[in-house]
Amino acid sequence: MFFKEEMIHQTETIAAIATAMNNSGIGIIRISGEDAFSVIRKIFRPAKEKDMDTVASHTVHYGTIMDGERIVDEVLVLIMRAPHTYTREDTVEIDCHGGMYVLNKTLELVLKNGARAAEPGEFTKRAFLNGRIDLSQAEAVIDVINAENDFALKSAMTQLKGSVSEKVRKERALLLSQIAYIEAALDDPEHIEMEGYGSTLLPILSECREDIRQLLENADDGRIMKEGIRTVILGKPNVGKSSLLNALLGQERAIVTDIAGTTRDALEESLRIHDVTLNVIDTAGIRNTEDVIEKIGVDKAKEYAKEADLIVFVVDTSRPLDEDDYEILQIIRDKKVIALFNKQDLAVAADLKTLKEELGQIPVIETSIVENTGLDQFVSTVREMFYKKEINFNDQVYITNARQKSALAAAEDALTKAMDSINMGMSEDFFTIDMMEAYTQLGLLIGETVEDDLADEIFSRFCMGK
Ligand code: GDP
Repeated sequence: MFFKEEMIHQTETIAAIATAMNNSGIGIIRISGEDAFSVIRKIFRPAKEKDMDTVASHTVHYGTIMDGERIVDEVLVLIMRAPHTYTREDTVEIDCHGGMYVLNKTLELVLKNGARAAEPGEFTKRAFLNGRIDLSQAEAVIDVINAENDFALKSAMTQLKGSVSEKVRKERALLLSQIAYIEAALDDPEHIEMEGYGSTLLPILSECREDIRQLLENADDGRIMKEGIRTVILGKPNVGKSSLLNALLGQERAIVTDIAGTTRDALEESLRIHDVTLNVIDTAGIRNTEDVIEKIGVDKAKEYAKEADLIVFVVDTSRPLDEDDYEILQIIRDKKVIALFNKQDLAVAADLKTLKEELGQIPVIETSIVENTGLDQFVSTVREMFYKKEINFNDQVYITNARQKSALAAAEDALTKAMDSINMGMSEDFFTIDMMEAYTQLGLLIGETVEDDLADEIFSRFCMGK
């Protein structure tokens, strides 16, 4: 079991360059830990004489970084005292000139005078270990840094503010009080009645599971908003798959050809059309004139289809349909699909009526990629399918992190098992194990310990009196 408290024995002072690793206007060196101020005292000479040990917190000081008597750089030093700092430790930031040489030189001095080089993410790790943020917030910090669009930034910021943690804590508290009650009853069967408790418990677990499912459902929306729609274009040879990709890209980046053997090695092409981002997965046959199904195999095509958020099924209406078209149709049955009836500029030779019946609810768009018709409608259909939900950051939480998502899925699973056990009339030990598992998984999501708080909870709530 993971105990956060056991890990807080790191009093070593750490330091790192906190800005980009290239020459720029300014560069910042961050120092955190018990010795942060003693380090700065040794290498910084303030312009006006003052005692750096006693200056007020959150103040800025002008002066020079000194290597003995040699001036290394002219800097601003920020003094921030624990606990009101990012790491909750004493923290110093040095604003240097942003050249890599001068930054490294200054860092070297810092390291020589009592700090050690920080590992990647170590400042945030300390913020976590020192209890300023939880694990999901720590991960949000990384997401804020990596955000590439407005949605990604907003969702990371809400997570950083603790929205995910708040929801997860609520569910955990609920589970914990139930587990604690059952444990107490098992300990003291004479005084605490368990008869028929299953029927009280079931709706509580069901609601909890529903909330988790909601988070999981939003997780996919979140990923799509953040990263784009994973798209696979399927269709037999020569229907116009590469032409479609080219048209969408608006430039000749993919290779369109009638001759086989010109496939390029690209795994995914990310393209943005207004607000819609499509990540087109290259199915190895898409840029090739060979039979896409034959080339990648039905199993592989199924696999791609499974991973995709959207399948674009391209049909050549100038040729009669054949079993290849229908085989693809079978693969994509349960997915979100848009069918393109392509080559509308040519005479229609395919039996489109039958195909339309087979397609059922799947939207059909008539296109001529060479004449550039129907593509606007394609994009607006995509938008309708994926972006119609209003994104509301006030009461929606979007989990976009894979680790958090898998913890949620495991918690959902465990709750289902617990409910099954209750329904089958199993004894309490059976379903408390699964409830505990759900509680643990949710704890992993925010990085909290388990045994300790369970003990506390039982003790404080039920006062066993022994
Ligand atoms: P893929 O094998 O499915 O990738 O098909 P391609 O994109 O390589 O297209 C095969 C051939 O069909 C090329 O010669 C394209 O120019 C042509 N083509 C694609 N779309 C259309 C269309 O809408 N109308 C016509 N007339 N030809 C098209």
